[in-house]
Amino acid sequence: MDRYAVVGHPVAHSQSPAIHARFAELTGQALTYERLELPLDGFLTGIEAARAAGLRGGNVTVPFKLEAFAWAQHRSARAELAQACNTFWFEADGVHGDNTDGIGLVRDITRHAGVALRGARVLLVGAGGAGAGVLGPLLSEGPAELVLSNRTVARAQDVVDHHAGWARRHDVRLVASGLMDVAGAFDVVINATAASLQGAEPPLPTSAIGPGTLVVDMMYGPKAEPFAAWARSHGATVRDGLGMLVEQAAEAFFVWRGVMPPAAQVLAERRALLAT
Ligand code: NAP
Repeated sequence: MDRYAVVGHPVAHSQSPAIHARFAELTGQALTYERLELPLDGFLTGIEAARAAGLRGGNVTVPFKLEAFAWAQHRSARAELAQACNTFWFEADGVHGDNTDGIGLVRDITRHAGVALRGARVLLVGAGGAGAGVLGPLLSEGPAELVLSNRTVARAQDVVDHHAGWARRHDVRLVASGLMDVAGAFDVVINATAASLQGAEPPLPTSAIGPGTLVVDMMYGPKAEPFAAWARSHGATVRDGLGMLVEQAAEAFFVWRGVMPPAAQVLAERRALLAT
């Protein structure tokens, strides 16, 4: 059995082992997927010990995505854009790193929500690891305009500057903004902040959303509910982060195994479980 793991701190809450076990079952792949919680100052030591013990690859979650990026010797273009890795695997030539968060979000929006990003006006709220990590794949879809808003505007500007060439290549108007400085309504709004975790106010003005807006919150579960209820009460269609979670896992599984698992089926199963 090939061994994979989700590496983070904490990881007890992670749904990744259940998702990958189901992918393996449905595709007939012989693998196991475990949790590997490492001390906050022990990423390199812990991951190299796991490698020596036979780990084939895995996913990286908070707070190690930046360290994983620095550790990987071969990085995909989307990891370079994100400056972070959520997926790694070992080959004879060393450690390979990728980032599947952005493509996971894009697939959730375009396939599961059925909303086109090409030509759309998109607001991405949050320029932390999650926001920066998904920006490249969002730009690749060719929206007309993408506004990256953040509480700390300078952080949004840094991320925008890093993606300026990629935005030009895909003919997207990319701008940085403060949270409450965005103007007009958007076709798609993505909440990539940790504001709900702190019970803070919704991190955008009401004018940003309307009856035609799709709002995606990267969070899921009870913590995501107040923001979702607020967005719904202003006419938006709302999705939580479960679809992104399953789709980023599916892409990682594909990268490791060369087999694309049935993400829609597993998402429906996870959704049913969450409801109970
Ligand atoms: P992070 O790097 O710590 O960044 C936190 C972000 O939230 C920053 O943009 C920060 O703004 C903003 N923020 C924090 N408190 C705020 C408040 N009270 N009001 C407004 N903005 C606030 O965290 P992260 O890794 O980006 O994660 C963000 C969220 O995405 C988390 O809830 C995480 O669970 C979720 N996520 C979900 C998935 C998925 O697969 N569904 C994947 C990755 C992440 P400043 O820059 O001003 O501090």
